[in-house]
Amino acid sequence: MNIIIFGPPGGGKGTQSDKIASKYQLFKISTGDLLRNEIKKETLLGKKIEGSVNSGILVSDNIINDLIEKVVSDKKYKNKIIFDGYPRNVQQAKNLNSLLKKYEQKIDLVISLKVSLDLIIKRITGRLVCSKCGNTFNEFFNLPPPNLTCCKDGTLKRRSDDNVETAKKRYETYENSTRPLLEYYSKSDLLKNIDGENKFEEIAAKIADSINLIQG
Ligand code: AMP
Repeated sequence: MNIIIFGPPGGGKGTQSDKIASKYQLFKISTGDLLRNEIKKETLLGKKIEGSVNSGILVSDNIINDLIEKVVSDKKYKNKIIFDGYPRNVQQAKNLNSLLKKYEQKIDLVISLKVSLDLIIKRITGRLVCSKCGNTFNEFFNLPPPNLTCCKDGTLKRRSDDNVETAKKRYETYENSTRPLLEYYSKSDLLKNIDGENKFEEIAAKIADSINLIQG
């Protein structure tokens, strides 16, 4: 089973994908995480994409396509992927279709989370991520431990693109480039719209219902 989860930045894709990945033994593939990792390691690719990531615009489709082909071609991940934050535009969705065909796989479910801009701003500007284990907290909804520590040696940090200005830019990018994907996938019967403003557990339960339906 391969799943796509998409929605606006700060829409809860990452936390819900973590939950789905562990519940259904899938691998979460977040293009945002892959890109941030390149930036952290200061690779050539990292240096090339840093400006785009920090200003909230999309990285080129070719770069993303290469990253995704490495994953999709790896037998370890075959039919066990939840794509978080990918595809981000119609061209990427078409690339993904060709790659999956090439490696004899398919998409089984596309989940779209709907969240308003006001809530997104709070989710993004309040988000704190543990530098060690990746655990996520929020200053408004899911308070971090006192003195901003998490696991051993972990400190809670803000992502460099988690500020109001970049959040608005990322939302604009989502509206212009990613939202048209809704129409693209609605033609294929795979799309499931879920209200992303409910409590975490309620959203997770709705997602699980959709997955259980396709699993039969
Ligand atoms: P995310 O962690 O998914 O919010 O992504 C953070 C940033 O990484 C985005 O604002 C983009 O600059 C870049 N990015 C992540 N995924 C993609 C993608 N599929 N295509 C292009 N750029 C991406």
